[in-house]
Amino acid sequence: MSYENLAGRTAVVTGAASGIGEAVALTLAAQGAKVALLARRSERLDALAEKIRTDGGQALPVVADVTDGASVAAAVDRIHDVYGTVDLVVNSAGIGLLSFSIEDAPVDDLQRMIDTNVTGVLRVTGAFAKDLKEAAAQGRSADLVSISSVGAHHLPGFPGAAVYGATKAAVTHLSALLRAEFGPQDVRVTNIEPGAVATEIAAHLDEETLQKLVGATPPAYGPLAAEDLADVVAYVTSRPRHVNLRQIIVLPTKMV
Ligand code: NDP
Repeated sequence: MSYENLAGRTAVVTGAASGIGEAVALTLAAQGAKVALLARRSERLDALAEKIRTDGGQALPVVADVTDGASVAAAVDRIHDVYGTVDLVVNSAGIGLLSFSIEDAPVDDLQRMIDTNVTGVLRVTGAFAKDLKEAAAQGRSADLVSISSVGAHHLPGFPGAAVYGATKAAVTHLSALLRAEFGPQDVRVTNIEPGAVATEIAAHLDEETLQKLVGATPPAYGPLAAEDLADVVAYVTSRPRHVNLRQIIVLPTKMV
């Protein structure tokens, strides 16, 4: 697919080592954006950057842990040195450490999920807020996009997902309320809430937990592909700069 207005943009995509973040990075780069790739696994980022460059795009792999302030600060410095001011930020880094019941849930897992999904998004957003406002003040399009989840509202049949859902509710509310700060400065804020997407996210769960959560019978709908979400991100960030799609729920058609 082709989108106008993405060539020449300077993007940062967290969670670019796999899944939705990887697909978003590939799509933005294919449209002519320079893309900084953030995640913890350097070999994945290097391979993705190599693929983007081979396809004629521009990418900068930057190893960073969004739960670590020094790591994100170093990433910001590196991106500024190489690419200058960023005008498009996609918060996709996230984990879903579901457990069957709240009393069984390891508190360390819950803390790590909050650190990654909430504090990580806050940290990255704060780190690039000045860039986005400066870019907008120069007349450029400027976007903050966060990948939340339909779990922010409701996850029927997933009793162990309450804390994950709570982290995503925080992201959804943050996106909505940050518009009061960013909107008047011409920075768009978009919150995207996917349903099921085929990625590595479930690979963090052990088989027993998976069976308990979703049962032996897989759901009657097939998941979306990561590329479907990349298409949505490219669509919203390529609208004219006065148009802000604020909130988008993206479901497999058969998922009710
Ligand atoms: P993946 O597991 O494929 O991707 C998650 C990415 O986040 C990985 O690239 C991982 O790379 C990175 N990441 C995890 N922890 C950190 C960290 N501390 N610092 C930096 N990067 C980190 O899953 P998805 O692509 O599915 O997930 C992307 C987003 O989409 C998440 O926020 C998720 O909650 C959300 N989502 C996913 C849905 C789905 O069905 N898949 C549905 C709804 C929302 P690395 O390990 O190398 O750091």
